[in-house]
Amino acid sequence: MKQTKKKRIKKVDQRFYTTLTKMANKPKVLITRPDIPAVGLNLLNARCDVVLWEKPSPIPRSELLSRVPGVSGIFCTLTDKIDEEILIAAGKDLKVVATMSVGTDHLDLKALKNRNIKVGYTPNVLTNATAELIVGILLATSRRLLEANRAIYRNEWKAWAPTWMCGTGLSKSTVGIVGLGRIGCKVAECLKPFDVSRILYTSRTVKQEASKFNGEKVELDKLLEESDFVIVTIALTPDTRELFNAQAFEKMKRSAIFINASRGEVVDQQSLIGALKNGTIKAAGLDVMTPEPIPLDSELLKLENCVVLPHIGSATIETREEMARITAENILAVLEGASEKMPASLNL
Ligand code: NAP
Repeated sequence: MKQTKKKRIKKVDQRFYTTLTKMANKPKVLITRPDIPAVGLNLLNARCDVVLWEKPSPIPRSELLSRVPGVSGIFCTLTDKIDEEILIAAGKDLKVVATMSVGTDHLDLKALKNRNIKVGYTPNVLTNATAELIVGILLATSRRLLEANRAIYRNEWKAWAPTWMCGTGLSKSTVGIVGLGRIGCKVAECLKPFDVSRILYTSRTVKQEASKFNGEKVELDKLLEESDFVIVTIALTPDTRELFNAQAFEKMKRSAIFINASRGEVVDQQSLIGALKNGTIKAAGLDVMTPEPIPLDSELLKLENCVVLPHIGSATIETREEMARITAENILAVLEGASEKMPASLNL
């Protein structure tokens, strides 16, 4: 009897020891904010020792630097700059950085490559949501939806009037897409049924997918000169930073409508404000700008011909859940020794 009790205690001790060892061996992963969709959080909590920034706001740089030492993985978002300083602070255990975004301009890709750190991101799953939002902001801008809505509350709607709140229609127009990647292609497909007559695009290569909407690859200048709607879906890189400067707006039609849903930094914002104020172009719709959030006293917010949204391109519940799941799985695949199974790894 005594012998059996002893055995049982030994067994419990062993189980406790195994659990402790397992916990000790769990890889340490930093998640830069607590309010990511639960699916991502749960996946990592179950298999990793998670270090979390506890406030639902971007982690301050000093907190990021103090929490990153010794982690094997980083789950970040586009508000977290992951550069050389962070990688040095993280140390040699860091194997993977996964961002819950398709844009990777906040990551120092060269520094990550030099250290052989895998990079995960979330292409494809947000393409439809972002394209939908772009169509929405395009219509909101061209048909003056927010301006018209505000007019009601200002008691300016006196009666139906023949020329009041008239905007620009898509039918028979020329649409120019700057950067025909996944999102640009989807936007073009979505716009075709509006009886758009031509779709122009810029890209470094001819895109086969463009045959679906008879897209014509042209030089940027031609696109700017001929488009009624200029839609920017190009990635932010050193080559594309401030691609839209005063000269670019000068090349556009005075009736042109400019839409940006890529990153604020592809636009020289002061030049855009000037172009909207002095009639160089007709209107703009922006889901992204600099800085974000835009200060309430920004001139951009005072312009009736500018529709501004708070960077909500991919903001559907399902999309954000998928983004969180893929980001967590990108991390787990690397940390569990199967980086070839990452759902979406960036080729560095
Ligand atoms: P993608 O398929 O990789 O397309 C990126 C486009 O950028 C391609 O047309 C590519 O040109 C072009 N490009 C990349 N590097 C370039 C360079 N150095 N010079 C000139 N062109 C370059 O990406 P995506 O999934 O469509 O996403 C596009 C961008 O949208 C992301 O990078 C992100 O910044 C932004 N985004 C914003 C939101 C939002 O909430 N507003 C949501 C999702 C994404 P080529 O055709 O020549 O390869």
